[in-house]
Amino acid sequence: MRIDAISIFTEYFQALDLSLLGKAQAAGLLNFKAHDLRDYTHDRHRTVDDTPYGGGAGMLMKPEPWGEAFDDILGESDDAPVIIFTSPAGEVFKQSTARELAGRKHLVFACGRYEGIDQRVVDYAATKGEVRLISIGDYVLNGGEVAAIAMIEAIARLVPGVIGNAESLVEESHSDGLLEYPSYTKPSEWRGLEVPPVLLSGNHALIAKWRHDQQVERTRQVRPDLLGE
Ligand code: SAM
Repeated sequence: MRIDAISIFTEYFQALDLSLLGKAQAAGLLNFKAHDLRDYTHDRHRTVDDTPYGGGAGMLMKPEPWGEAFDDILGESDDAPVIIFTSPAGEVFKQSTARELAGRKHLVFACGRYEGIDQRVVDYAATKGEVRLISIGDYVLNGGEVAAIAMIEAIARLVPGVIGNAESLVEESHSDGLLEYPSYTKPSEWRGLEVPPVLLSGNHALIAKWRHDQQVERTRQVRPDLLGE
């Protein structure tokens, strides 16, 4: 899978060189590149922002550097790319979004800063690929980098081969619309706290039932919206 990110703070993306995604890059499963938007400016100050038409607080990202960045990055794309604008005004990113995007060959993340990006950049991107505006939650960050990293990690770990044990993807939170059950490791008793006896019973059918009941109970308590309640 190929993933590009366009940002004015490309250093953020060094986090993707660590751990499993770093290994996935080394193994050629993930081809990630961060592009500095300022490389597509032509003035001495490498300007990427300007005041908004119609007034209002703050600055907006101007269209020209974005246009040049897309022409450069998407010009090399063999596959129809999905261009993702990180935005608190977008659809909310979910595990189902991650699953869907993990099946695509080329993703491009556009990371906004300031008060966001001139709308014509989004309109122009739509002539180059499939555009999605995606939020990681109902709160406002200073920029799109942290949001893009969260999405990239959630997507890339679903790409076959990135996680060594594919079974661990099956039983985790959100894989079946429920939150994960509580988990325990050794020792069986720690500081007076005991592991639920059923997990020590060796009875796999009972363990599976206990885990499912725990999933439903936890989901009902913490995220009743997932159960449609
Ligand atoms: N004025 C914008 C608004 O009210 O929708 C917020 C701009 S925010 C300060 C700067 C940038 O951070 C956004 O353009 C977006 O790229 C990113 N961002 C902020 N919150 C985000 C979120 N919840 N999910 C994804 N990206 C976010």
